[in-house]
Amino acid sequence: MLLEIENMTVAYGRIEALHGISLTVGEGEIVSLIGANGAGKTTTMRAISGIRPLAGGSIRFEGEDISKLRADRRVVQGIAQSPEGRGCFPGMTVVENLEMGAYTRRDKAGITADMNRVYGLFPRLAERKKQVAGTMSGGEQQMLAVGRALMARPKLLLLDEPSMGLAPMLIQQIFDIIVEINQQGVTVLLVEQNAQQALSRSHRAYVLETGRIVKSGTGQELLNDSSIKDAYLGVA
Ligand code: ATP
Repeated sequence: MLLEIENMTVAYGRIEALHGISLTVGEGEIVSLIGANGAGKTTTMRAISGIRPLAGGSIRFEGEDISKLRADRRVVQGIAQSPEGRGCFPGMTVVENLEMGAYTRRDKAGITADMNRVYGLFPRLAERKKQVAGTMSGGEQQMLAVGRALMARPKLLLLDEPSMGLAPMLIQQIFDIIVEINQQGVTVLLVEQNAQQALSRSHRAYVLETGRIVKSGTGQELLNDSSIKDAYLGVA
């Protein structure tokens, strides 16, 4: 397994947001985490990327316990996050934002190649290289945030609500791009409210409810599960 989370607990002050969750992500997989507002999805992502400390349990990456590793060291190990709510540097241009994503790297040729790869995935960014991120549309900023995370050349890409705020046509497109990124060899852990899209594109998925994993299975199994249909897919 590329990522193994065991019995992870995360708290905000005295409030425990995750009550001992366990999940795994295998190399080459797209795994999604679905759940209602406040279930703990973003908290899980923050704990994996090292922004929130663990109150208990462990995170292993490529077999090594990274639970206490600083966030920037986790980027070097191969974990990059595209945060919820875009998270671009608004005063910087598209190019500068992408360069920031590669700040842990020194391989100039590789960085240039990856920048071209990002432009290939997101032609809109290639057209807007010099535009300041803060003036771009919501959808464009979302693409930029994903592109920036890719610039770290991660083994594991953490995507927190990449479809948030996107028009229906762009939602299709961003999921297509996620599959393409995965086919290029990047393992993906995806947090989504758009359960239908996420499950249909994922190898496996976990359902999080108020800080606990209540169900897991292949994307297809969960798509066919009647309780998931009722709660998350908006069909009876
Ligand atoms: P959403 O889909 O609405 O983004 P989520 O599943 O990502 O929700 P989290 O953001 O992980 O949920 O929140 C999990 C719980 O932790 C919620 O009850 C939330 O109120 C609480 N929480 C999150 N961040 C903080 C914080 N900085 N301080 C206190 N409580 C927090």
